[in-house]
Amino acid sequence: MRNLIDITDLTTDELQGIMDVACDIIAHPDDYSERCRGKILATLFFEPSTRTRLSFEAAMCDLGGKVIGFSDAGNSSTVKGESLADTARVIGSYVSIIAMRHPKDGAAYHASRYAGVPLINAGDGGHCHPTHTLADMLTIYRAKGGFDKLTVGFCGDLKYGRTVHSLLAALARYGGVKVVLISPEQLKLPDYIKTGLMAEAGMPYKEVDSLENAIPDLDVLYMTRIQRERFLNDTAYADLEDKYMLTAAKMALAKDDCIVLHPLPRVTEIDVDVDPDPRAKYFEQVSNGKVMRMALILFLLSHLNDDAPDPSFEDRGLFCGNHRCVANEERSIVPLFKKTRDGKLVCAYCEAEVK
Ligand SMILES: [Zn+2]
Repeated sequence: MRNLIDITDLTTDELQGIMDVACDIIAHPDDYSERCRGKILATLFFEPSTRTRLSFEAAMCDLGGKVIGFSDAGNSSTVKGESLADTARVIGSYVSIIAMRHPKDGAAYHASRYAGVPLINAGDGGHCHPTHTLADMLTIYRAKGGFDKLTVGFCGDLKYGRTVHSLLAALARYGGVKVVLISPEQLKLPDYIKTGLMAEAGMPYKEVDSLENAIPDLDVLYMTRIQRERFLNDTAYADLEDKYMLTAAKMALAKDDCIVLHPLPRVTEIDVDVDPDPRAKYFEQVSNGKVMRMALILFLLSHLNDDAPDPSFEDRGLFCGNHRCVANEERSIVPLFKKTRDGKLVCAYCEAEVK
């Protein structure tokens, strides 16, 4: 049986296969409308995220399956003190597949060990949100036909932006992607990503602070929100807001086929005057998210007899130092650790490094 906890759980070939199915769903939706007849998806949302939950539910409905679930923890047995492991076991006995969102880092991996059915991580704290990345990948793939020789710009908050880190991890596996990192000094991409994932993949990058100067070279521009609360005062924030806001005037400097992505919801970082531009793909991203979830559900349900890749996690008698980690939350959890490819010891649940 397979799960999707992190985007890197899928090989490059598997990701390609899922994108091919998604394109086929878009071309022939009727061929898929009965594929999950008799199957049930549970959406277990321990914190609200209406948009993501509805995307999963619409995906299962369009496959002819049924959906059960809850939309925040107040409606579940966890308020009575039930462990996540027990909730996963119980719900897993009712359904064919689970999509779960949880506020704790590492919760998805923990629940997947008990669910007995495939589990899709629909966001676990600040850790991962892989189906978001699937939507991003399909949007780029449909517009560009592949990932060769692309120059991808990431603009905005590159420090805390989980969607940015995850998309970089997915793109790093394709040779030939160049990256331009566009952000203010305070919100630069963390060094561990540059020296780890990107250096390992030999992914060339440059860091700049001006969107206007960078935009003419880009094939893909991935915008993210700069959050006001990251700044000490409103004046500092207002200056940045203007500098990093994408407008029709800035789009006039971009290539004719440069596409614009954004994880949504947007606030002010993309002016509404960009919306009518055919290069703006952020609303198409939403529908791509639904078809990728459909393709992912089909993939996981067709791999029920596969052995998951052996993660070689070990009990080392240690504790995870990340206070947001699920391993520090539930008494029943045995803290497990794994070695990364570059030799670091990390928590198996939340992937925080053990110092
Ligand atoms: Zn941890």
